[in-house]
Amino acid sequence: MTAPCPHCGTTTIAFTPVEAQFEAVVRALANGSKTLAAGEFRYFAQCTDAEAAAWVAHLLHCAHAWPQAGADEAVLAQVEAAFAGVAKPDHFTDRTHCDECREHDDTLRARTRGTLRRQDLGNAGWDPITFSSADGIGYFFPALARFALLPDVWPQHSWYADQLVLHLAWDGSDNRLLAWCNPAQRSAVHALLAHLVATRGQAAVHHQFDEELQAALAAWQPPSA
Ligand SMILES: [Zn+2]
Ligand SMILES: [Zn+2]
Repeated sequence: MTAPCPHCGTTTIAFTPVEAQFEAVVRALANGSKTLAAGEFRYFAQCTDAEAAAWVAHLLHCAHAWPQAGADEAVLAQVEAAFAGVAKPDHFTDRTHCDECREHDDTLRARTRGTLRRQDLGNAGWDPITFSSADGIGYFFPALARFALLPDVWPQHSWYADQLVLHLAWDGSDNRLLAWCNPAQRSAVHALLAHLVATRGQAAVHHQFDEELQAALAAWQPPSA
């Protein structure tokens, strides 16, 4: 039995691993082996190699393929509600500026909030979000938040939380997304940052971006009434 993902449309085998099984798959991915991860999944789901490989590939493409802890889901719901009304802009970068801006614009225009992939977001040295307008970042923000709460399992890319935090910390209180956001959006971003501090603070220290995380949290602190 297969079923299409309601977010990105990818069809995979309809088998939902229980928590311990899912953890075994994620452990294999975090250790750098898609093959072992697919092997674990095949064993649990009693499916073919191809079905297991496709299931793991979807997990590595689609932020919605991951089960979320309750506290993660609550903060993501706040972010999704605050940014729901942001329309997809026609363009994300000044595409006439240079080849890199054109390529980043093409990458982002080809995706939606539902289909954006971890690899689209690149790394600190090749990051389309750096070149996107604030409108464009606002449009994708629910997807960026979802990727930031996923673990560090990407074969070709680093953890996404540190990349997102750098964008939110940039320029401190003059941050361009901060200036663009309405109060509900600011509160939602602040809640996401506070949630990262509370639940991933040790990981931030390990990945050496705890100072940027604290700086972002301070910059996005809502003005006290
Ligand atoms: Zn999907
Ligand atoms: Zn450019």
